[in-house]
Amino acid sequence: MARTLVLGGGFGGIAAAVRLRELRPDDEVVLVDQGDRFLMGFRKNAGIAGTGDMLEGSRPLAALDRHGIRVVRATVTSIDPGGRVAEVAGERIEADALLVALGVDLHPEAVPGLAEYGINAYDPGHVPAAAAALAAAQDGRVVIGIFGAPYRCPPAPYELALLLRDARPELDLTVFTPQPMSLPVLGKAGCEVVEGLLGLRRVAFRPNAAAEHVEDRRVVLEGGDHVPFDVLLAVPPHRCPQVAVEAGLAEPGGWVRVDPATLETGVEGVWAVGDCVAIPLATGQPLPKAGVFAEREGIVVAERIAARLEGREPTATFDGEGLCWLEVGGGEARAVRGRFLAPGGPDIELTPASASLLEDKARYERDRLEAWFGPS
Ligand SMILES: Cc1cc2nc3c(=O)[nH]c(=O)nc-3n(C[C@H](O)[C@H](O)[C@H](O)COP(=O)(O)OP(=O)(O)OC[C@H]3O[C@@H](n4cnc5c(N)ncnc54)[C@H](O)[C@@H]3O)c2cc1C
Repeated sequence: MARTLVLGGGFGGIAAAVRLRELRPDDEVVLVDQGDRFLMGFRKNAGIAGTGDMLEGSRPLAALDRHGIRVVRATVTSIDPGGRVAEVAGERIEADALLVALGVDLHPEAVPGLAEYGINAYDPGHVPAAAAALAAAQDGRVVIGIFGAPYRCPPAPYELALLLRDARPELDLTVFTPQPMSLPVLGKAGCEVVEGLLGLRRVAFRPNAAAEHVEDRRVVLEGGDHVPFDVLLAVPPHRCPQVAVEAGLAEPGGWVRVDPATLETGVEGVWAVGDCVAIPLATGQPLPKAGVFAEREGIVVAERIAARLEGREPTATFDGEGLCWLEVGGGEARAVRGRFLAPGGPDIELTPASASLLEDKARYERDRLEAWFGPS
């Protein structure tokens, strides 16, 4: 009986653990997470905009024991990739195969004043504060600020603006980003559609706006210009989890290095998936950090681990196909979909808005929650 150790119980870690138990029901799969619940990423936007209940997209990780996965609730404090060992709450857990799926660390403190004057829109713990600040904002200036790239789910800040516009027509809404356009992976033409949509919905858009620091009621940009706000909903700078950097799996300031097709880290028996890795597109831009990709990568890794443990040559590879939804309000969504890793550059489209795409998004959530955690 072999043991696989999965570090991180998000999209990537769960998908891998569940698939591996299907493929190798006699093996031990240990999944470690510092939290006790899984939460669908997009539920944070719903919680802030008041369009849905965050808890409905959340399940206890302990329910994964229905697949025979041993869930350990603890913080991973060190990883020894060469030994395929992790230190977890003072205990060393050794494994035959090791998967790092630790997501990202959020660093609001990297921008002076941000933690004091802004609300971290990417931290579920801050969603109630964001909703309360918006309720008190009346017709005030609400700024959604992107404080670094890459960041998770690139369409999410724009989706939040559009959901807020629907729910609160009276708000003065702005989104700023340090990037030169809204969704660089879409190219200029696709970005013009997104930015046109923001304009039509009276959401001001400021590209090339790199924040320098935050003061009471204003974000000061590099170059001295500023963005005034009454409520600042922030996408804080993202970093690779420090424990992965200390393990030598990523350079400081970088992301875990993997083979884009196999998700192997270069250390025998050690894989990494999801937001903690950087997979470059043909354009040099990174593959968007999204749950749909973390999940597909996790399934590929499970199949490769199973093959290795059985002495077979693994054949499963990650192809970079997928889609991200952009909810646009009015009960509709668009999708950014296609072949992100196409050799000539991303071969992707921004679809027209439809109610059926929003239904697909709801179905995606329902299907995952039920398959992983069982009926609610
Ligand atoms: C507002 C918002 C909207 C989004 N919408 C979408 C969408 O529509 N579609 C989409 O595909 N994606 C979306 N995403 C992105 C998606 O949520 C992430 O890309 C996805 O969660 C990444 O999966 P992961 O497994 O890499 O990391 P995560 O899901 O973040 O899981 C990592 C896990 O590791 C644990 N962990 C970290 N460090 C430690 C440690 N030291 N010890 C123990 N445990 C640790 C964490 O607790 C966490 O549970 C959205 C994200 C946000 C913020």
